[in-house]
Order: sequence, then C-alpha cells, then structure tokens
Amino acid sequence: MPDYEAIRTNNPPFLNTPPLPNPKTAPASLGEAQRVSYLYFLATFVTQHMAGEPLMISDEIRQFVQDEVRDRFLRYVQVYTTSDENNPNTPSTERQWDLLKILKAECEELGLSDVSLSEFGYVYATLKPSEGVDAPVFGLLAHVDTSPDQPGENVKPRRIENWDGSTITYPDDPELTLTTNDSPELAEFVGETIITASGKTLLGADDKAGVAEIMASMAAFKKYPELKHGEIRVIFTPDEEIGRGTVKIDEDKLPKFCYTLDGGYPGELEDENFDAWRVDLKVKGIGVHPGYAKDKMINAVAVTSRLVAMLPEWMTPEHTEKREGFIHVVQVSGDFENASMTAIIRDFEEEGNKEKVEYVQQLARLFEKRYPGLEIEVEVSHQYQNMRDIVRETPEVVDIAERAMIDAGVKVIRKSIRGGTDGARLTQLGHPTPNIFAGGLLFHSRREWVAESSLRKAAEVVLYLAKHWTEK
Ligand SMILES: [Zn+2]
Repeated sequence: MPDYEAIRTNNPPFLNTPPLPNPKTAPASLGEAQRVSYLYFLATFVTQHMAGEPLMISDEIRQFVQDEVRDRFLRYVQVYTTSDENNPNTPSTERQWDLLKILKAECEELGLSDVSLSEFGYVYATLKPSEGVDAPVFGLLAHVDTSPDQPGENVKPRRIENWDGSTITYPDDPELTLTTNDSPELAEFVGETIITASGKTLLGADDKAGVAEIMASMAAFKKYPELKHGEIRVIFTPDEEIGRGTVKIDEDKLPKFCYTLDGGYPGELEDENFDAWRVDLKVKGIGVHPGYAKDKMINAVAVTSRLVAMLPEWMTPEHTEKREGFIHVVQVSGDFENASMTAIIRDFEEEGNKEKVEYVQQLARLFEKRYPGLEIEVEVSHQYQNMRDIVRETPEVVDIAERAMIDAGVKVIRKSIRGGTDGARLTQLGHPTPNIFAGGLLFHSRREWVAESSLRKAAEVVLYLAKHWTEK
C-alpha cells in the first residue's frame, strides 16, 4: 500500500504524466521529500507488475469511458432543465422530468437494479456488487437541473478540438469571447478538446457533467467485470440550484456514505462548507405628523438605514474571499413607522458567526438606547452547518476520494465551499457527503466550459473510488 498521504502532500510532478518511471533521472531532479514519495510510487509500480496485476484501467477501458462520458454529456446538456425558485413544487419545473425519465430508462438499459423515479423527481438506482465482493455501500449524487441565472433552453454544445490557445468566440453571440483572462485554468488545456455552449445559453456542465460521469462509470462497470466494486447507489436529484435538492429525498435509499459529483476544476475535493446564519430585524419607530414631530418621531426606515451603515464594509461578500466570513444584507424595506432588514451571516467557524450575530444584536440594543421608544426585534436562525466536523468523524470517506484521484492521475486540491451544498444537508442528516470535481468551469454563465479529458478523469475517479471501497 503506497503512502498516499505523502504522495498527496508532496504533490510530485509525475502524477499528471503516464507512469513511466525512470529511476536514473527523475529522482535527481526532485527534492528529498518528493524523492521519498517517488520511491513509494516506484514500489507500487513494481509490486503491481511483479504480481502480474494489470494496471486497473486499460487503454480500452479509458477509451470506452471517454466516448461514453462525452456522448452522454453532449446529449444531456441539450435537455432543457432550468429550475425555478418561484415555484414551490418539487421538482420546481415540469421540464426536469424530461431528463429524469431519460435517466431512469438508461439506468434500466444498463441493467442497474431497483431503478425508480419518485413522485418528487428523484431517480434511484443500484449497481449490485461484483461477484464475491463484500464492501460497504456508497452513494453517488448529481443534480439534473441548471441554474435559472442564465437561459438554459436550446443549449447547443460544440466541441473545439485541439484548441490552440486562441480566443474562443461563439457562433450565436459575436460579442462574447472566452480567454485565459476569463478563466486562467484554460491555459492548462491547450491541445485538448474544449466544450462550450453557443453563446446564448449556459452549458449546463453544472451538473450534467456529474450526471454523465456517473452514468459512464456505471456503463464501464457493466461492460468490464474486471472493474471490481461493492454495491453503489446512484441518485439523480432535481432543484439543487435553488437550494432544494434534498428536501424530498428518500432517506431510506441513502447509503451511510455518499459523494456528490458537482465540483469544478479537476482534483477539487470539498469537505467543508459555510456555517450559515440569518438575522431578521423588525424595527418599529414612532410615527407623528411631520409638522409636529420634533423630539417625538422616530423614523423606522431612516434608523434602519443608519444601522445598516454601521456594519463593517470589509466584512461584506464583495470584500471577502477564501476562508473569510461575512455579513450580507439581503434586504431592507419599510416606511417611517415600520421597517425590516434581513442579513445572512457566513463563516467556516461557528464561533466566527456567533461574534457577527452578537455584533448585530449589540447594534440593535445600542440603537434602542440612542432612540428611546424605538423597538428592534432581532430574530436569529441557524440555516445549516459546516459539514467538516461530521465528515471528519469518518475520515476514510475523504481519504478514499483522495486515493481515487491520485490513482486517476489528478492532483488533489482540497477546497472549502463558500456556500451550502446538497452534500452539506445530507451530511447533517448523518450521511457524510464530500463533493468531488465534475470538471466544468465558469458555472452559471454563458462562457461555461469543460474539457473532455476532465469529464473522463472524473468518471475514472468513480472507478477507483469503487476499487478502494472494496479494500475497506
Ligand atoms: Zn451544481
């Protein structure tokens, strides 16, 4: 067993190259720590060959996965599945059924078991374990809806083969361009095949990349029995983009451990998200005829505006990044008698949020003192919590994901989600669910793109995930 932790930590440069070890030259060019992990790598390589064990993913399987995932992706993105936050139903739009029904039928075609489509638009399917394999069950989730932020109807995907690094233009919008200024990650993909939409719509790699990757890996498991796996549950969900992806999920069908394939750049692995709070202020002023208001009137909406102005500007979403938290005023409204304000409060640490909530509460008390007669009611609610603490109780869930990525030749990038995810909610329900990359970038925009190799790598990660779970 190689020391995966050492390999990951040292990020040796060979991870993205084919495994052709040259012990004479490569170690000399590496630092001591990298040399050590390089030796681990050599040891694995040698062990595999001495044991006569084939490298798990042959060129044939790789080609099969590449074709499957690309063809499925290009098909799925053309199905209109935009969700709608103004519709309270689940799914929030009838059109999501179109893709859900296709997926149900395709799961059946692949020979998956217990395939069902629930009345709330969730597809469930099970891949039975390989013969003789007894391993823990794990789940794979992806969402079928696309963001209402950009048009998602009539998506026309197109492939740019052997991209030469020049500015990408769009057939349906001559004004729109895509360069490495918009997306620095593009620079890594010169010479590869890039997929974009045509300029009028988003692409929908978020999250049809995840859907296609799961389906392609299921097809590979079915076609190549040498790819060993335990039982795997597949779940496709609606309405993730409007924050309702898990509200009607059938918990009985959820395995203890799951992964969402809904991240971005290859290698991204997210096991942390915001801890989230919300404060609602109800401000009651004193209304008096304005001509006779001296020393009597307290103008609720004016006072509320002053209170909002006292929230630190550096603690807003537009001035924070990475692991910094913020207070985000999402609405202020009212008149001179009554006003209200809502803010959402975010931080990775609950302590950090409690301080921010406390600050808002103190401001409210201060204003009541400053304006005798003013009443401010503060309502505080905890919206969701950081999945980190629960995920870390069972570290193997993330460890296995890391190993799978290393095996697939992808450099692991641990990230924290500056938001909430379906995985965060499932984790809170007791199903640790970290998020794995799906490969797309510039989500929710008309420049959204994905490289074909990223689609394949994510599907390969699933194959290796299964392998490592069988070693549990
Ligand atoms: Zn998504």
